[in-house]
Amino acid sequence: MISLEKKKKNNGFRLLPNGRESFCKVIENIDRLQKDYPNFFRKRVFFNAVLHRKNSFKEIKDFFMKRYEKIPSISEVNPVGIEPEKYNDFLKIYRSKNEKSESNKCVSITMKKNIEPSINELRKLIRHYNKYIVWEFSELYYSLKKTRLPTGTCIPFTRRIFITAQGVILPCERVGHQFSLGRFHEDISIDVNAISNNYNSYFDKMSVLCEKCYLNKLCDQCIFQLNLDSSTPTCPNFMNKKKFMEYLSNQISLLEKQPKQYFNIFNETLGID
Ligand code: SF4
Repeated sequence: MISLEKKKKNNGFRLLPNGRESFCKVIENIDRLQKDYPNFFRKRVFFNAVLHRKNSFKEIKDFFMKRYEKIPSISEVNPVGIEPEKYNDFLKIYRSKNEKSESNKCVSITMKKNIEPSINELRKLIRHYNKYIVWEFSELYYSLKKTRLPTGTCIPFTRRIFITAQGVILPCERVGHQFSLGRFHEDISIDVNAISNNYNSYFDKMSVLCEKCYLNKLCDQCIFQLNLDSSTPTCPNFMNKKKFMEYLSNQISLLEKQPKQYFNIFNETLGID
């Protein structure tokens, strides 16, 4: 997964240590990867772009389609962990996915045609209900135990870690510093018991809601993007029975209309030949 925005001016928030924009360097490396390893690039390389004030849905999608024939996943600037006094600065760069603008409207129609209900949702559905698909070795172990923790949060250190320039160890780059897993300077400092206690308390807090949520078996909501400061956190993806039935119906209707999507997902998205 490569995180990138379209062209230099849109990429203005991604800087090298010397303060220059990283765009030219990154694009040069991606082009080389595509040229030298075309099959790997087609099957295994995905893009993520962040929506902000310097770009739009349409610009992002057009860029990746034209240059690499790929549809990127698009996320918003992470609003978690912003210092209250910096919140106005944050709003100057933040653009919501739901914002109504000509450029956003235009692409939502295009995206509707191509990927709604999204391939990603179908992928989740097929992944969950097809017992022969296992994405990671760890799933073989966890599936045997048949336990499911609330939310779709990654278990620490099982998929990735992110270390900041200051040596703070985080579960990934989208998680705020208040949820650090330890520090890395000359020595590595990780308190496994503290991590375990913290995660258990987060899960306890969310379990009340997740137990009532019909999406819980397909959930990929990261707990660190929710309002954990609250004694009763909410979740934007919560589904009651009615909502979940609509969701399933949309997914199945798409497969009925386009049965080839099932095989496309296997061949392209899951990378199974
Ligand atoms: S989508 Fe449902 S299961 Fe997932 S975190 Fe939200 S409430 Fe919990």
